[in-house]
Amino acid sequence: MFIAHLPAGYLLTSTIQTRSRNQSLSLLATGLAASVLPDADLLWFYLVDNRQHVHHAYVTHMPAFWIGLAGVAWLIAKAARITSAPLYIGVALANLMLHMVLDSIAAEIKWLWPLSNAEFGLFHIPAVHGWWVWNFVLHWTFLLEVALCTAALLLLARHIRPAPE
Ligand SMILES: [Zn+2]
Repeated sequence: MFIAHLPAGYLLTSTIQTRSRNQSLSLLATGLAASVLPDADLLWFYLVDNRQHVHHAYVTHMPAFWIGLAGVAWLIAKAARITSAPLYIGVALANLMLHMVLDSIAAEIKWLWPLSNAEFGLFHIPAVHGWWVWNFVLHWTFLLEVALCTAALLLLARHIRPAPE
């Protein structure tokens, strides 16, 4: 997924905020950051790994990595009696898992790692265009990204609209 991780994170986090009755900006920021965090591995992909491996094969795109990290964070927060932490950890983990689900549409994710290295993806994007980006942008699955962006923009417009007098 190219452009819709952040919009999808906004939709998910806003929904959680409504249900948890917590409209804090820090919770929204946590969700938005987590929605794109796995793709920070692109820095490693380009700057260190010299594009030797698909970045979806890095540990930052393994669901179990984030579930384990969230578990450790939850244990630390519980020991330190930080009562607000579980909501933030939950929002972060929900957005991280959403990232993996969305990446599973047009790429492959190792959902069962470390038990298995099997990769799961819904659709294979054929390499038919000279520049690889067009393979994704001109594939019908990109319409889902457009839909997510549109929905997020509509929700954002509703959120920032001035309250009626
Ligand atoms: Zn990703």
